[in-house]
Amino acid sequence: MSEYIDREAAISAIRGELEKENLSNAASHYARQGMGTAISVVSKLPAADVAPVVHAYWTDGNSTKRYDPKTDIYPYCSNCRKPSAYDCGGGHVATPGCPWCHAVMDLQEADHA
Ligand SMILES: [Zn+2]
Repeated sequence: MSEYIDREAAISAIRGELEKENLSNAASHYARQGMGTAISVVSKLPAADVAPVVHAYWTDGNSTKRYDPKTDIYPYCSNCRKPSAYDCGGGHVATPGCPWCHAVMDLQEADHA
C-alpha cells in the first residue's frame, strides 16, 4: 500500500535535521551538501494524484450532536450538512463515508471544530 507525504513537510524535516547537528565547519559543509542533494531529490519527485482526507461524523441535523438512530430521523454530515443516502428500504443509512463530500465518518463530536 502506498503512503503519501507532504513535499514541503519533507523538505522542512530534512532542513530541521541539519539544524539539530552541532558539526564542525568541515562536517557541516558535507552535511549541507548531502541535505541539499536530499532536498533536490525530494523536490523533483512527481506529485501523486491524491486528495486530502476530510474527517467528519453523522449528526442529528439540528446541532453538532452525534446521530442516534433510535431518536433521530436522518443522519446529516457534520462537514457538508447534507443528509446521508437512502437505503433500499426508503430510510437513510449512516454509511462509513459521506456520499456527497466523501468525508470519512471517524470523528468524535469533540474533535469537530
Ligand atoms: Zn458530507
